[in-house]
Amino acid sequence: MLTTNLNAMNKAGYEVLILKGDGIGPEIIAQAERVMDWLELNRNIRFLRSHALIGGEAIDLEGAPISDATMQKAFAADAILFGAVGGPRWETLPFDQRPERGILRIRKELCLFGNIRLAKTYDALVNASTLKPEIVKGLDLIVLRENVGGMYFGEPRGIMKASDGSLFGLNTHIYTDEQILRVARLAFELARGRRKMVCSVDKANVMESGELWRRRVQELHDAEFSDITLVHMYADNCSMQLVRQPKQFDVILSDNLFGDMLSDQAAMLAGSLGMLPSASVGPIGPYGVRAALYEPIHGSAPDIAGKGIANPLATILSLAMMLRLSFGLTAVATLVERAVESALSSVGTPDIIRADVRRVGTVEMGDAVLSQLENLKK
Ligand code: NAD
Repeated sequence: MLTTNLNAMNKAGYEVLILKGDGIGPEIIAQAERVMDWLELNRNIRFLRSHALIGGEAIDLEGAPISDATMQKAFAADAILFGAVGGPRWETLPFDQRPERGILRIRKELCLFGNIRLAKTYDALVNASTLKPEIVKGLDLIVLRENVGGMYFGEPRGIMKASDGSLFGLNTHIYTDEQILRVARLAFELARGRRKMVCSVDKANVMESGELWRRRVQELHDAEFSDITLVHMYADNCSMQLVRQPKQFDVILSDNLFGDMLSDQAAMLAGSLGMLPSASVGPIGPYGVRAALYEPIHGSAPDIAGKGIANPLATILSLAMMLRLSFGLTAVATLVERAVESALSSVGTPDIIRADVRRVGTVEMGDAVLSQLENLKK
């Protein structure tokens, strides 16, 4: 993974654009920013932070789910940390004016083609999964989903009229060489920093786009990544294997359509929505910086917004992903992840409460992570 080279860029720190969003967004981002404060004080890291509006709040105050000025900031940032958008107040707006359009615009215009979703089951939470503890204990996998191509974007598309007057719906599952190769390269690079295994998912048995996918992934592997173990799996089998024996996987590489389902399935293995971080990454720009946005996988949770009980750990873990993937700060990222893991052994927000730990709110969960960072820093 190419990372930001501060010397080459002649910068004084990592430029991070922070987009809190709606609902619980500001509450969970506040805890991630406390971790950033701690890292600045204790790990000699400088974040050049800027904040901007997105989602419903941006609609109310700036007239659009994301302004052009904020888009400029997004293009300029080394990385983006995002909370969540949406809420009942804006649900009656037309689709193209809704809060979610803000995040979709960033993903599209920054061409964030790879969605990386981490599914890791912490020991303290093995009983929170719907699967048996022995199946998920120690689970640590990534689903890398191609995010801007395939069935959801392919043309032609639409609801059309046949010659007999009846209607038919049409979508096109299309992948180019370039789209396959850039996401496959990312999968191999991710695997190199982990257990060096990639499982590439397709339906090459019934779809030509899958046949090309499989061929190109294999060719790239043979040419540049023969140190990685590559297996190919049909999407339906992968879905079954994810619940049968999920620990066989390290990095699952998938197109947009199958990845949509497999990544949600993988998310459930880890227990709570409030625990899962993600990254959406794009092409490598000047100075070797890869456009990237980091966010918890959950939404704005309007049902608990303002109550101070949201779990901030997915957002703090998204920050850890940023440290590792965008900035190459592996040891610091691991420190943050270990602090989260240690905090889980004594406290829990309501979504992950267990009998043997103390019930806490959002800020106290942040306190627990900071206190574990202090313990671990020696
Ligand atoms: P949601 O993820 O916001 O909430 C689903 C359930 O999980 C709720 O009961 C919520 O209280 C709980 N939950 C979510 N995050 C939690 C956390 N950190 N701690 C504790 N509990 C948590 O999904 P939803 O209710 O379907 O959607 C609510 C709004 O969020 C909608 O407007 C939707 O469009 C939007 N949304 C935004 C994003 C995003 O910004 N990336 C993603 C999904 C949904």
